Amino acid sequence: MQDPFWLMAQQYALAILWVDVHGVITHVNEAAGCLLGAPMRQIMGKAVGDYIVELQPRAWSALAASLVNGKTAHLNATIRMANEGSAAAEAHIQCLAGDSTHAFALFLQGVTTQVRTEDLFRLQHNLLESLSRGEPIERLLDQLCIEVERMAPELLCSVILVDGQDRVHVVAAPSIPKSYSEAIDGQPIGPKAGSCGTALYFNQPVEVSDIAHDPLWENYRDMVLPIGLVACWSHPIVARDGRAVGSFAMYYRQPREPSDFHKQMVEVCSRLVAIALERGEADKRLHDLAFYDPLTGLPNRRLLLDRGAVALANAAHATASVAVLLIDFDRFKTVNDALGHDAGDAFLKTMAVRIEEVVRQGDTLARIGGDEFAAVLPSCDVHQASQLAQRLIGIAASPVALNARHFTGSASIGISMYPDDASDFDTLLRYADMAMHQAKAAGRGNYRFFSREMNAEIQELAALEHALRDALAQRRLNLHYQPKLALADGEMYGVEALARWYDPQLGDISPSRFIPVAEETGLIHELGLWVLDEACRQLAEWRAAGVPVPAIEVNVSARQLTRKELPALVEDALRRHALPPSTLILEITESSVLDDNERVRDTLSKLSAIGVKLAIDDFGTGYSSLGYLKRFPVQELKLDQSFVCHLDERQDDRELASAVIHIGRALHLTVVAEGIEHPHQLDFLRAQQCDVGQGFYFSRPLSPHDLCRWIALRPAATRSCP
Ligand code: C2E
Ligand code: CA
Ligand code: CA
Repeated sequence: MQDPFWLMAQQYALAILWVDVHGVITHVNEAAGCLLGAPMRQIMGKAVGDYIVELQPRAWSALAASLVNGKTAHLNATIRMANEGSAAAEAHIQCLAGDSTHAFALFLQGVTTQVRTEDLFRLQHNLLESLSRGEPIERLLDQLCIEVERMAPELLCSVILVDGQDRVHVVAAPSIPKSYSEAIDGQPIGPKAGSCGTALYFNQPVEVSDIAHDPLWENYRDMVLPIGLVACWSHPIVARDGRAVGSFAMYYRQPREPSDFHKQMVEVCSRLVAIALERGEADKRLHDLAFYDPLTGLPNRRLLLDRGAVALANAAHATASVAVLLIDFDRFKTVNDALGHDAGDAFLKTMAVRIEEVVRQGDTLARIGGDEFAAVLPSCDVHQASQLAQRLIGIAASPVALNARHFTGSASIGISMYPDDASDFDTLLRYADMAMHQAKAAGRGNYRFFSREMNAEIQELAALEHALRDALAQRRLNLHYQPKLALADGEMYGVEALARWYDPQLGDISPSRFIPVAEETGLIHELGLWVLDEACRQLAEWRAAGVPVPAIEVNVSARQLTRKELPALVEDALRRHALPPSTLILEITESSVLDDNERVRDTLSKLSAIGVKLAIDDFGTGYSSLGYLKRFPVQELKLDQSFVCHLDERQDDRELASAVIHIGRALHLTVVAEGIEHPHQLDFLRAQQCDVGQGFYFSRPLSPHDLCRWIALRPAATRSCP
């Protein structure tokens, strides 16, 4: 058979059988040998009915008779393979002209390759679809095993996973007796641990065609032979990082090797299982991210809301009380700013561990914001809640080692109670937050219970914040200016810009009320920027008009100093209004430089490098440490008005005032006395050689127009006003 047709047929992927009129197979090509799973020589001479179920002798004769020269017939055939069950195939039968030895050609269309590949595709498709529907992994793996067993009834499947201790766990084996699965559960993997344990151990497929005689099964064969399983083919399930995380196994009831199809199936299945497992892990990670704080591992706000709601429902049932605590660390920002974010993280982690140690089992501790933690305490009364709050304050105040330094923090705690304060968890949490802010306002390291009055106050504050936001947006604030005079000769030293706000509904609102609100809400940045710009604009206008105002003093809040863009903003304002830097004095409060904060120090030295002057406002009211006067580039000290106020009746205030004046002089700082209302105060300060004075005695803060008039009307004033 060397004719060209024959040679071509040998290379043809399609399986071809030549059959004579009696139904005897006279020749086959290589593809047919593969397909039928037998050597070509063995197939030749056999009846076509031996391999194709539908073509038994009688059927063949009828078919052959119906086909005349060149005619073809089509048949959905079932082929019987040499070593296993049957499979569907498509057969085209053609009558070949002339040649009596192989009168008919049977083309079998890629039975394994086509139909079975389709089966595998379907399997893959179904599994991926179930995966995308979010079905639980155990059900998915069971489904996979069942489908494989349907496609190849000669075998039984199982999926095994290995745990962190290298022990195996059966996760799916729907057709294998439970007793066996239970017996191997928890067995260690190893070089001689059956097919699966060994496949996992070496991360390689393991084929055992006869369990009864294979040394790999020595210790396990007594478990498996009695249930009729005698051969096992196991394939590792390999994760993305190359680790063997499990195995997919096929058991047979006869001693045998896996067929090519089985091998193909095992490969597809172990890949699918790997995908499913990965998805499972990703789900768990997503779940963790959704409900837990990644830094501390504590529940997050979402989980807290759930647990809180459950705690309230249980308490309603048992008529018990529940306490909700909100814990905020007072100087957390300082840790972050001064020691860096890693130290900040370490601080929070340490605190989380410490607090967790003192809450009871059944309590929920959650991290709900940067430095905010919340606790839900079921069956906890007011007394117990306050005891716990005191303990927590103690815990927060014990030092934490950060970057080889010891940092001592403190916590402010707010508490609300179910059912006394509110019956829903959201409100309780909000109330605890209000109480926490009250605690903070009362000084660090305090706790407060929520009260009704607090609520009213907070609502008023919220209304104020809203109105202030509006006022800022609509440019409804303005500045008044209070003169500062040199005490020696009455010359104008400068003016202090003070913010004023008139609201159509609320009337005049004092800066002592709205500045703290702006600070609390962060609006201070916008407000401060506006003040800076407006003050510079005004000074430039006066200078252009020849009004003798040598310098302008602007108040800067502590919070503004924590923004590192402040120096650039100041420089920008000066440039836009063409002002020399020395005409601008920035007032910062004593307390804002007391927090030994690296960023603040950095901002201050940048400001000073620009050439603007820095003044310490309200000097004497803080926990004065004179050390910082030398550390910071300060040019001016403003003696707080509370000292000036009582100069005549209090000896100690007089002594303090003169001490401040002397310190200022010793450090070459200009000392400004604020709040001078009476001539005798002025006399005293002059006698002490205080440099500059400011107060109602000279003038109240004035609108720009009134200030010009005031200057014009002063006897010493020589210049005119626009
Ligand atoms: P401060 O910086 O200490 O301002 C001095 C305050 O004392 C001003 O109150 C001023 O009107 C008042 N004052 C001046 N002379 C006398 C006097 O002889 N007797 C008395 N009893 N009071 C006098 P004001 O304008 O109500 O401002 C209050 C505080 O609000 C200021 O205190 C300052 O801390 C803050 N503030 C005002 N404007 C701004 C601003 O633009 N930015 C910032 N951050 N804070 C501002
Ligand atoms: Ca001031
Ligand atoms: Ca002041």
